Amino acid sequence: MRLLLVEDDARLSARLRSDLQQAGFAVDVADNGVDAEFMGESEPYDVVVLDLGLPGRPGLEVLRHWRAAENPMPVLILTARDAWHEKVEGFKAGADDYLSKPFHVAELLARLQALLRRGVARPPGPLRVAGLELDEDAQTARVLATGAIFELTGTEFRLLRYLMRHPGQLLSKSRLTEYVY
Ligand code: CA
Repeated sequence: MRLLLVEDDARLSARLRSDLQQAGFAVDVADNGVDAEFMGESEPYDVVVLDLGLPGRPGLEVLRHWRAAENPMPVLILTARDAWHEKVEGFKAGADDYLSKPFHVAELLARLQALLRRGVARPPGPLRVAGLELDEDAQTARVLATGAIFELTGTEFRLLRYLMRHPGQLLSKSRLTEYVY
């Protein structure tokens, strides 16, 4: 299970990363909102732990952008203690669950497992856009109309996957370059 941990408190982040890895997650870490948003839209995470108070771009804005792009990955937000308005705003922005700081790691793990069980993750099965089907395990693309299968290089695969995840969107050259390389 791939998890994106977004937390700017370096000590908390390091501790959580190690606990989450021990629990079996493959963890990527972002310490600001801009990187977090980019990573969340580029990689197929199974679940995200998102702190709201972040440098660069607030967590709520990051979450709103993901949801506006119809990214359905489950997101658990970390809120300040007793900040009920953060929870309300978080759910409105598309959060699936929340945890108030400080919290016990055992509760975080239990909530993440519950989210994953609920299966709000990306829909199963291959990615299909505009008559093309992408097989993410075999790194091949199939033309649905003819059944023709194309083997892709690593770069081709990453580029095509990114384009298929953002259908109908205008993507700048710099953004594509940043993602692919
Ligand atoms: Ca913070």
